[in-house]
Amino acid sequence: MAPLVLRTVAETAAWAESIRRSGRRLALVPTMGYLHDGHVSLMREGRGRADVVAASIFVNPTQFGPTEDLSRYPRDMEGDLAKCASAGVEAVFAPEPSEVYPPGFQTYVEVTQVSQGQCGARRPGHFKGVATVVTKLLCLFKPHVALFGEKDYQQLQVIRALERDLNLGVEIIGMPTIREADGLAMSSRNAYLSPEGRKQALALSRGMAAAQALYRQGTREVPVLVSAVRRELEAAGLREDYVELVDATSLSPLSTVSPGQPARLLVAAFVGTTRLIDNQPIGG
Ligand code: AMP
Repeated sequence: MAPLVLRTVAETAAWAESIRRSGRRLALVPTMGYLHDGHVSLMREGRGRADVVAASIFVNPTQFGPTEDLSRYPRDMEGDLAKCASAGVEAVFAPEPSEVYPPGFQTYVEVTQVSQGQCGARRPGHFKGVATVVTKLLCLFKPHVALFGEKDYQQLQVIRALERDLNLGVEIIGMPTIREADGLAMSSRNAYLSPEGRKQALALSRGMAAAQALYRQGTREVPVLVSAVRRELEAAGLREDYVELVDATSLSPLSTVSPGQPARLLVAAFVGTTRLIDNQPIGG
């Protein structure tokens, strides 16, 4: 069945309240739309963990920098609603920016530690925008559970921190990255890639696989593991934004991977003007 489309904060609050008051568990999947199988995996998991699944489709202006791709971010509301319907989503919050940020809006959420490095350092203000909109969505829906992808690994840590620090009482679920058959992590931004860029983009997953292979052969020195990723990026003609191997929770850089310490390899690189990110666990 086609999902109910909610355009305003007032109707969304009333709808979510009616679900909770009927005693049903509510799951929320926040997205920026142009949905793919990664988003759908979160929706399906939500169905397993709750009675009712809601999604939001909102290209959040406060998480884009002034020179970023806000105005050209891909959109397809009709296709998205069809995917939501087939994933069993009952309601979709799809507001105008002025509904989320009305005149006089002045309250922002800042997660000070895990937001600092990696994407936070390269995209000033990005995680402040993410943290603010996710907090607003969690306060609006008051879901029992909210689902996010490990594809955006730093973002997931930011959301875990804000939920905990603000006592929001929502169970935050992180879901594995869904990939194309050849290894490329699914992303709405893959739509920007030319056929040639699409091939070059495989260097991210190939580089991470090379680092993983070295780790399995016994390499524990982070500079060596990171160099393996860099070699693949360079060979494919990609411009590195960062390659870091960090503690999986604090996201602090490591110099060696110690036994039993969960670590995460985080990669960001430009394919032409398109910035892609990917990550995977190492060791642990
Ligand atoms: P976005 O629309 O890109 O803001 O993503 C919405 C949610 O889907 C976020 O929690 C993302 O981490 C998640 N997501 C995006 N791509 C993937 C993927 N390939 N696999 C799993 N989850 C994803």
